[in-house]
Amino acid sequence: MGGTARCFVCGRRASVYVSYLGEYLCPEHFVEYFERRVRETLVWFRLVERGDRVAVAVSGGKDSLTTLYLMRKFSEEMDFEVFGVAVDEGIAGYREYKLEALRSLAREIGVDVHVVTFRELFGLTLDEAVAALRERGFEVKPCTVCGVFRRYALNRAARELGATKLATGHNLDDEVQVFAMNLIKAHADGIVREGLVTEPASERLVPRIKPLYFIPEKEVLAYTLIKGIHTPFVECPYIVYALRHPIRHWLNEVEDEEPGAKYRVLAFKEVLRNALPPPPKEMMLCRICGEPTSHPVCRACELKSYILSTRAGRDDAGRGGRAAGVARLPPHPG
Ligand SMILES: [Zn+2]
Ligand SMILES: [Zn+2]
Repeated sequence: MGGTARCFVCGRRASVYVSYLGEYLCPEHFVEYFERRVRETLVWFRLVERGDRVAVAVSGGKDSLTTLYLMRKFSEEMDFEVFGVAVDEGIAGYREYKLEALRSLAREIGVDVHVVTFRELFGLTLDEAVAALRERGFEVKPCTVCGVFRRYALNRAARELGATKLATGHNLDDEVQVFAMNLIKAHADGIVREGLVTEPASERLVPRIKPLYFIPEKEVLAYTLIKGIHTPFVECPYIVYALRHPIRHWLNEVEDEEPGAKYRVLAFKEVLRNALPPPPKEMMLCRICGEPTSHPVCRACELKSYILSTRAGRDDAGRGGRAAGVARLPPHPG
């Protein structure tokens, strides 16, 4: 990047362009800048407090590994505990490689990682769920099921492990992409829900925090390269089914044309969030699994029942068991 560019701080050869500063930085000053920015996010917005027990949701990708690494790094001086929670969705040829990268980093920095699987929680792997969805012509997308199941699994595992916060690796690009998807789906609740901190509407929901919220994806990548945080270059095989994929490309094109566009969109999201009505505070407990939900049956149980009502779902899940008494309706949106 920028062959002759010089570091804004020390004048040495630069390697990273930081769009927020509009300046180039050498590896050493970039690392310093990056870590300071994440630390300031934690402190200024009170994402963590003394005595917190922070579960980091780790997928094994660069964002979550960086989050785990930095939370571990800041945990001593800021006096909180850290451990990792990983979800094994059951995606052959993908998940095992990511988990290996995760285990190796966790060993290196001395952090425990707990792994929960879709099979144990829902009675089937994501690969099996996708076979069932295919049978129904993908009227529900794999990423929808995975997203709902993963969110459910992470919250439940974090809570059962006594976490007071659940940190995720979402970066600036992720936030802007999700915001764009919520706009396209006219999903106001989603816009209100996705912030830097998610205040839970139920004591059975662990508050979620996003330490990399203000960091562009490119900078997370630069940080992992400089720090030697390795993750294999395998992509989820189901990404082609995701709306997120084209939106990501489109936003990158817009950013090239209009530098700073992503920051402005993120800032505008805050304006909108403040203008929109807050999500309903009253939550009930799912009549099947007992997890908090805004409907009588939670979205995870509804999707599970929908999947198991197909031939592929029944065959693959085997004794996984049908959720009795739930309608076969296509799940409600959102
Ligand atoms: Zn420098
Ligand atoms: Zn449920």
